Amino acid sequence: RDKPVLNALPKNDLASQALDHCIFPIIDAADVKRDGPVVIASGKGMTITDGSGVDYLDMISAYTRANSLGYGNEEIAKAVYDQLCKMHYAGTVSMVTEPMVQLAKSLSELRPDAGLSRAFFVSGGSEAVESAIKIAKQYQIGSGKKPHAYKIIARWSAYHGATAGAMALTDHLSVAQTPDPRMPGVSKIPNPTCYRNPFGMGDEEYAMFCADYLEQQIIHEGPELVAAFIGEPLMQANGAQVPSKAYWQRVREICDKYGVLLIIDEVICCFGRTGKWFAAEHFDVMPDITTMAKALSAGYAPIGAVLTRPDIADAIDHFRHVHTFSGHAGCAAAANAVIAIKQRERLIPKALENGVYFKAGLVEALGEMPAVGDIRGLGHWHAVDFTSNRKTKALPDPKMVKGIAEKMRSLGVLVGAAGTAIEVAPALIASHADFDRTVAAFKQAIESVSKDYDIA
Ligand code: PLP
Repeated sequence: RDKPVLNALPKNDLASQALDHCIFPIIDAADVKRDGPVVIASGKGMTITDGSGVDYLDMISAYTRANSLGYGNEEIAKAVYDQLCKMHYAGTVSMVTEPMVQLAKSLSELRPDAGLSRAFFVSGGSEAVESAIKIAKQYQIGSGKKPHAYKIIARWSAYHGATAGAMALTDHLSVAQTPDPRMPGVSKIPNPTCYRNPFGMGDEEYAMFCADYLEQQIIHEGPELVAAFIGEPLMQANGAQVPSKAYWQRVREICDKYGVLLIIDEVICCFGRTGKWFAAEHFDVMPDITTMAKALSAGYAPIGAVLTRPDIADAIDHFRHVHTFSGHAGCAAAANAVIAIKQRERLIPKALENGVYFKAGLVEALGEMPAVGDIRGLGHWHAVDFTSNRKTKALPDPKMVKGIAEKMRSLGVLVGAAGTAIEVAPALIASHADFDRTVAAFKQAIESVSKDYDIA
């Protein structure tokens, strides 16, 4: 089970009060009682400071990967403050505000070739996924194309959120282990993992097997009943799984052949994380519906969005869905400020370049280490995948992976343990010096921790 590395940081009085009054997600209550929780007192740029005054270089964007512009960004804070003073919230149904409309228009212009010019706003990633599912089903039924479609195909190891519908599509973290029954009509197919797969195939051979499996699954489920297929452009389970362009091209072809809508869940990948506004751009694949959240506001306000094409939106004569805070003006102001900063500072293309720099540093420093199996990623999202045997790619001892992440924390660098891998996913303001420090901490931590494990 993944465990936030932050929970091993020192605690203080506020931590005890938090234990008395707060509920903590996806972690064993006993672990929180023993190790944390951690009080974070402040943050500036790439650094956070805990309640005891110790600084950490945050190379994992507040663990959730949402913090894409660093801490203490006054331009975003001011944009939100100004908007809240002027008009904080005007309701949801047919009242719109300037920042909301501006955001909807800007989102459609970030990837104009995709034609995703209709937006629906929500408060986070799970709500975005819930909304995408409803759009897909209502479209299939409302357009008359598939009047009985209710099935969704998702993938093994997927993470799509913790609300009931999104959870049914999820196959990763303890969220996926909540008791049945859950949303009916969901089936899951293999996902194109990198480095390891259950059949020992080469990465590309396995990717095409996974894509072709989608066709078989659609036939098996009954094409007239399948409303949509959903996938993360890069999957998070076991760290930054980057599929091939051919995989996504084939998926698109299959969806078109059977009139299945393609939902690409960009909640964690969007807004520069992989060095593009949307990760799907790397694969030249056009979704019918796409979801986003997290870096959309750089973590400064809770906002998510769903984008779709006008022909899909217009086929729905009455969208049977609503959230009180949809299109919240203050949240939209945060997202607008984030877009302006990322465009002005050219942070998205810089993230792509930084990724090349970082990966080269990782490969040079760690590439030959016996415990290191694979190094992969794009832009500001990379993973080092571990093994106990480089020849057989045998799984690493989970305690070793966790131990390396904890050692890096003790060296002042926060990263995230993700199954067999450790992920590095810093804000887009991370400098080459921050990447260099991370590579050095990685090397030192692997050397110091892996010697206690049997590695062939
Ligand atoms: N979809 C993906 C791909 C995610 O990575 C996440 C969260 O990590 C979600 C959906 C759910 O987002 P949220 O936690 O904002 O509800």
